[in-house]
Amino acid sequence: MEKRREHATPTASQDELLTGLDEAVEEPLTDEIAAVGFGLPSPIDQRSGQALQAVNIPLKDIDFRARMKERFGLPVGIENDANAAAYAEFQFGAARDVESMIMLTLGTGCGGGAVIDGNLFRGWAEFGHIVIEYDGLPCQGTCTGRGHLEAYVTGVAAGKLAAAEFGPAVDAHRLVRLADEGEPRAIEILDGIGRRLGAGIGSLVNIFNPELVVIGGGFAAAGDYILEPARQILRREALAGAGERVRIVRAELGTAAGLIGAGLVAFDAVG
Ligand SMILES: [Zn+2]
Repeated sequence: MEKRREHATPTASQDELLTGLDEAVEEPLTDEIAAVGFGLPSPIDQRSGQALQAVNIPLKDIDFRARMKERFGLPVGIENDANAAAYAEFQFGAARDVESMIMLTLGTGCGGGAVIDGNLFRGWAEFGHIVIEYDGLPCQGTCTGRGHLEAYVTGVAAGKLAAAEFGPAVDAHRLVRLADEGEPRAIEILDGIGRRLGAGIGSLVNIFNPELVVIGGGFAAAGDYILEPARQILRREALAGAGERVRIVRAELGTAAGLIGAGLVAFDAVG
C-alpha cells in the first residue's frame, strides 16, 4: 500500500455521505490513477452496480457504481466491505496459500466473504445473517431476523453478555482481559460465543467446503477463547471430508484488509 488516509464517515444523510466520499476520492486523485474501488457495508447487486441497503450508514437503493463512474470518469469497482476484506486476506494475508477460503469479520456486525477455487464470490455472502437458532435473539440494525449468527458472535453481543455479568463498565475488550486474568465466568461466556461461532462456521463449511476459515474484525482479538470451542463444534457439525481438513485461523491484515480489497476490486474493474 502506497498511502493511507482516513476520514470520518458522515452519517447524517445519504447526500452528506456521498459528498464525503467524493472529497475522500478527489483528495489523492492524480492523472496516474486508473480506477477507483469502493468497499461498502451494504449488499451489492453486481449486475446493476447498486448498493441496496447498508445496515449502519445511510446508503440505500443507489446506483452507486454508475454515479461514481460519472463523477470521476474512471472505471469503478464496488464490493461489499467484508467480501473485499476476504479477497485481500486471500491474495496477501492468512489465506494466501490456499485456493478456497471463507472469512468472517466480527466487529459491531458480522460480515463474511468467500473465495472459491481462486475466485472471489461476488454475491451477497451475508454470513452474519444465517440462522443458527430458530426464533432466537433479534438481529441488529435494520435486519428483522431472529437467531442470526450476528446476534451471538460480535463484539457487541459479547459486550452485552459481559455487561450483564460484570456490570455496564465491562465491554468485549475488558471481557477478554478478564479471561486473560483467569476469571472463569469470562472464559465461560467467550466459550459460549465460540461454540455458536462454530455452529455457524459448520453450516458454511458444509456449503462452501473451504480449506481455511479466516476470522477477522476487532473481536477476533478474543483469539483461542472463541476459536478453540469453534473448532470443536465445527468438527461435530461439518460433514465427513470437510471437517478434517478445514482450519480456522485469525486474519493477518487487520483493518487494512477492506482497503486493500477495495484496491483489488478496482484492478478488476480495469479488466
Ligand atoms: Zn440478521
